[in-house]
Amino acid sequence: MITCINCGHTYLGKFCPECGQRSSVKRLSPNVLVEEVTHFFTHVEKHFLRTSLDFILHPGRASHNFLIGKRKNYQKPVSYFLIWTGIFILCHNLIIGQFHYEYTISHTSQSPEMAEANLFLRKNFTFMMLPLLFISAAVIWLVMARPRFYFIEMVVLALYGGGTYFILNLLSDILLGVIIGININHINVFIWQTILSALYNFWFTYDFFHRFTIRLFWLRMFLTAAFIAVSGKIFMDYAPLFWLYFTR
Ligand SMILES: [Zn+2]
Repeated sequence: MITCINCGHTYLGKFCPECGQRSSVKRLSPNVLVEEVTHFFTHVEKHFLRTSLDFILHPGRASHNFLIGKRKNYQKPVSYFLIWTGIFILCHNLIIGQFHYEYTISHTSQSPEMAEANLFLRKNFTFMMLPLLFISAAVIWLVMARPRFYFIEMVVLALYGGGTYFILNLLSDILLGVIIGININHINVFIWQTILSALYNFWFTYDFFHRFTIRLFWLRMFLTAAFIAVSGKIFMDYAPLFWLYFTR
């Protein structure tokens, strides 16, 4: 029997069943410190990379695992989303600065207000992601998931999807901006990023929901894609206009 140093509970095993502390806690010598630090980083890294790869290749399987409670091997959704958002913003700005990529304005018959709002949208796209994720989660819940899943479960999947979308966007930035040398602030690249998000969203939704029996599956899949596209377009057209109007 072992007596837990932290809480005094007596037990057998590697971890205290009361408070979770390891039974093998040692005095803090320099060696132990090095051990702890390397353990922390290899552990976090392993979870984080595994979660990232899983949500690119098998988003449905990873989502299903997480929702049914196999959670230990996955990075938590909020931190996953925030870490990838942060990495994306850093790298994106680094590439733009390094290659002096400027924003281009499309020469269609837009009004000056629309053109300005559009530019504002593209410059602040990362911050538009959160409302867009909520919109997608709501559509997916209404068309595909109800009543099997809670809305909040779809929000969690949207956070994983959003984080993973930033990985894909980062890879796209590196390929287009660094390797090929295309201006990644060009309007066409923005259109490509929108298409990329729709493709990944479709793949994610299919890979998750095809494992359940859902009536009119493909009709629902296409309705989901269409609703997200339309509501996303309306949001991206009008939210920046409202923002610019009310902050002026
Ligand atoms: Zn204990």
